[in-house]
Amino acid sequence: MASLAELNRRLVSCRRCPRLVAHREHIARTRKRQYRDWTYWGKPVPGFGDPNARLLLVGLAPGAHGSNRTGRMFTGDASGDWLYQALHRFGFASQPTSRSADDGLTLIDCYITAAARCAPPGNQPARQELDTCRPYLEREVQLLPNVRVVLALGRIGHEAWLRASGWWERLPAGQRPRFAHGRVTRIPDGLTLVCTYHPSRQNTNTGKLTRRMWHGVFRRVRRLLDEREE
Ligand code: SF4
Repeated sequence: MASLAELNRRLVSCRRCPRLVAHREHIARTRKRQYRDWTYWGKPVPGFGDPNARLLLVGLAPGAHGSNRTGRMFTGDASGDWLYQALHRFGFASQPTSRSADDGLTLIDCYITAAARCAPPGNQPARQELDTCRPYLEREVQLLPNVRVVLALGRIGHEAWLRASGWWERLPAGQRPRFAHGRVTRIPDGLTLVCTYHPSRQNTNTGKLTRRMWHGVFRRVRRLLDEREE
């Protein structure tokens, strides 16, 4: 696949994971009461953003009534509210909200993707489903040549990027970057990997991830990119 556009065209018709296909389509048929007037997307969700981005965000998987409804990464749910508020505050998004795929939002120097592209039951893709979906992320990593900082949103996004970029195999087990909120790791080829807890309701409602912690991570990312320009 020669381009992100071609990759995304193929992705949206993918049906390789029977359990996830059944779930995403069931959710799209049954819908949530507050969204009964919506026609849900109900398909794999493509990556979104600036093809020349220096910042790559890797999340977990589409939310059942968020991007599985709207068709755009992190759009239309509580995680997205946290994400786009911070992206806008630190200069990576044109607006602080993300409600629908046609709301005019653009990303600046930033691209968003995920470990799995179909909404999983209980927000938990199975190991085999992550393995099956990984070639899309691998190809995306190859098609985003300017990325300098990778922000992993949660442990699964962290491992997904390490595997898709090849560093999981290249580094001995004891030297692989470990996931911890706020951890910054320099990868040998000049990339920097930054970790954060995922901005899921489960983390933000319980105080595991506070707004201060969240903004602290984005401040660090901004500085890392600005340092490179000097
Ligand atoms: S999770 Fe990935 S591999 Fe599985 S059906 Fe969705 S797009 Fe295809």
